[in-house]
Amino acid sequence: MYKSIIIGTGPAGLTAAIYLARANMNPLVIEGPEPGGQLTTTTDVENFPGFPQGIMGPELMDNMRKQAERFGATFMTGWVNSVDLSQRPFKLQIEGQGELVGETLIISTGASARYLGIPGERDNVGRGVSTCATCDGFFFRNKKIIVVGGGDSAMEEANFLTRFASNVELVHRRDELRASKIMQDRCRENEKISWSLNRTPLEVVASGMGVTGLKVRNNETGEEELLEADGVFVAIGHTPNTKFLEGQIDTDDHGYIKVKPGSSETNIDGVFACGDVQDSKYRQAITAAGSGCMAALDCERFLEGSAVHDWSQSL
Ligand code: NAP
Repeated sequence: MYKSIIIGTGPAGLTAAIYLARANMNPLVIEGPEPGGQLTTTTDVENFPGFPQGIMGPELMDNMRKQAERFGATFMTGWVNSVDLSQRPFKLQIEGQGELVGETLIISTGASARYLGIPGERDNVGRGVSTCATCDGFFFRNKKIIVVGGGDSAMEEANFLTRFASNVELVHRRDELRASKIMQDRCRENEKISWSLNRTPLEVVASGMGVTGLKVRNNETGEEELLEADGVFVAIGHTPNTKFLEGQIDTDDHGYIKVKPGSSETNIDGVFACGDVQDSKYRQAITAAGSGCMAALDCERFLEGSAVHDWSQSL
């Protein structure tokens, strides 16, 4: 029995852990398959305040984890299969490790990279298809790469991949980009980046050796084209990781957990959400960290106000 269980170890979960641990709430933090979250798949983080020269994503996350541990947060590695939120304390089923019970729950499971859902894509993950430039860019030294997407992620991935690739072709389904001006400008100024706008991806084409190209429809002419490449990086956004909740909590149409305005409270008393799993708008490390702080404070106040359990008997 724990006073508080935090699911997820991105900036939101780890900030919640730091705050709860410093408040002597001894949180248990469940670390999933991507410890540290999305920032561990990025390189330089230049916009997290406090690091004038920037900091590497993995280092930032490692620092946050150490900070939480220093104040007494405990960590376990596990996959939460399901939760029972029908009554408090809440029950969590952990794959191969049985049941955990918590009086409160902080959900900070983030969001996962989306795929295009076209033929040849999933079959070639690890054979030329990737959703993580920082993880896989190294394998494409002097090769030709396609990046699909028109948002900031696509711009960031494309720019980063020019460190390795001979050429990066940005493929986007419209002729207008969604990315911020500064990110667009960086790509436009990068001579290694070429553009295929107004192209809808249809199929990842591969030989026995791996990816050889991307079949697209030219939306101006309606014709199909084959864009040759050794790798296809898909950077079209993310899906919130809420499947394990099995509809027990209110979400929006895209699956993001709904929180009460200006708070981390969900529709279930004692369950709080923070970070990208509840934020389809800002999705920044700093906003995730800020919302993690809010979740910890909301949780602490909730526990102070709910004398439902004699903790001296449980811990
Ligand atoms: P996003 O802004 O939602 O952009 C996704 C892009 O993928 C859009 O251009 C979209 O096209 C395209 N797309 C979506 N589904 C597609 C499909 N099935 N086929 C083809 N194209 C598809 O996602 P994001 O780029 O991951 O950015 C998410 C948030 O994180 C944003 O708020 C962004 O500012 C932030 N971010 C910031 C940084 C940074 O500041 N360093 C870096 C990365 C992300 P349409 O435009 O046609 O819809």
